[in-house]
Amino acid sequence: MAVTPEALRRDYGIDARTLHEVREIDLKSRRVLVLSRSDNREWWEPFDQLLIATGALPFCPDVPGAGSPGIYGVHSLQSGIAVRKVIDTENPKKAVVIGGGYIGLEMAEALVMRGLEVSLVERASQVMGTLDPDMGSIVSDALISAGVTLFREESLQAFEVSGSRLRAVVTDRRTLPADIVILGLGVRPNTELAARAGIPLGVRDAVKVNDRMQTAVEGVWAAGDCAESFHLVSRRPVHIALGTIANKQGRVAGINLGGGYSTFPGVVGTAVSKICEWEVARTGLQEREIKAIGLDYVTARIESTTRANYYPNAGPITVKALAEKGCGRLLGGQIVGIEGAAKRIDIFATALHAGFNVGEMINLDLSYAPPFSHVWDPVQIAARQADRAVKKAF
Ligand SMILES: Cc1cc2nc3c(=O)[nH]c(=O)nc-3n(C[C@H](O)[C@H](O)[C@H](O)COP(=O)(O)OP(=O)(O)OC[C@H]3O[C@@H](n4cnc5c(N)ncnc54)[C@H](O)[C@@H]3O)c2cc1C
Repeated sequence: MAVTPEALRRDYGIDARTLHEVREIDLKSRRVLVLSRSDNREWWEPFDQLLIATGALPFCPDVPGAGSPGIYGVHSLQSGIAVRKVIDTENPKKAVVIGGGYIGLEMAEALVMRGLEVSLVERASQVMGTLDPDMGSIVSDALISAGVTLFREESLQAFEVSGSRLRAVVTDRRTLPADIVILGLGVRPNTELAARAGIPLGVRDAVKVNDRMQTAVEGVWAAGDCAESFHLVSRRPVHIALGTIANKQGRVAGINLGGGYSTFPGVVGTAVSKICEWEVARTGLQEREIKAIGLDYVTARIESTTRANYYPNAGPITVKALAEKGCGRLLGGQIVGIEGAAKRIDIFATALHAGFNVGEMINLDLSYAPPFSHVWDPVQIAARQADRAVKKAF
């Protein structure tokens, strides 16, 4: 547990009750039905203001054999500890990871490091679907080099079980023997409780909120993985389940329900991850998302090094910039590279918040010294190329 109930009580005066579950929300009488899991007691607890922060739930596949022993999700600290315990005590040899998002990839790496034979099954043509396929392919190659056997464009069909023992994963193309399976299929907002109470839901069934994190019901707020965000580039509501967003939304909701005034303007979809030695970062819209909202765009992809190329430990970095045709508005950025690459995404993220076009990024007064960068940061080189592409396409 990152923070104990005792620390919350002592440091903030918050009466945090673990092992208590809210079963129903009664909006008319302004009360919630609470179940104490330690002694099975149930009672109605009144409220003046209510914050819904029920998080997200992992997608579970609806295929034969799902739910069998040996199949694990990694959606909480406890579930991560459970996987580690199985590896420590049961000594599985063959692992299959289903889904090539950041959790699936990080787990595949961890399992290889623990000495397991690891296969990863991904429905799409590349792993890391939040990147464009040309950037995702770098991550796929890295994974293969690390020893993961990758099966792309394959879908899970079933789990083969004999007795109570998991035997294999069946895809639409093959059968993969498996002692342990890790699910990394993404998450959905955990909003059944809110929906049952009649609180309106929005995109992907996340709780619909305004920029103060207010739901459509007076005195009821929502924040975190269960709530919508507003995407500042597409200008549409989105559901992005990340701790970065959850923390900020929670802070804004807390200020407001405590009687203050605060707003959360929105997100640009910034995320980072690390797979083996490769840092992976993205922000804004990827090509698929730009096409979906009907904008014309140009792209620029450059290869450079993370430090001055003569400096020790300089390594590869690939940067992609996406800009709107005509006006050159920055629409997104993606980065894959070794140590020192990923946090450069924050330049793109800040430029997206500021509404810059790629031309405006060229002369940003960014830092330089050989241990950190070239005189031209790779992000600025990509912006310069994108600006050139915008002018050429005009
Ligand atoms: C393996 C993993 C790695 C991650 N890595 C990153 C990362 O590197 N960067 C990043 O930005 N994000 C990361 N995330 C996402 C991040 O953890 C979530 O976005 C964040 O925890 C969401 O916070 P939350 O408070 O909305 O939901 P949660 O942290 O899920 O908390 C929701 C809580 O509500 C409780 N709850 C649900 N229903 C009820 C009920 N009816 N009654 C009482 N309690 C209830 C749940 O038990 C849970 O404790 C990761 C997630 C996972 C699973």
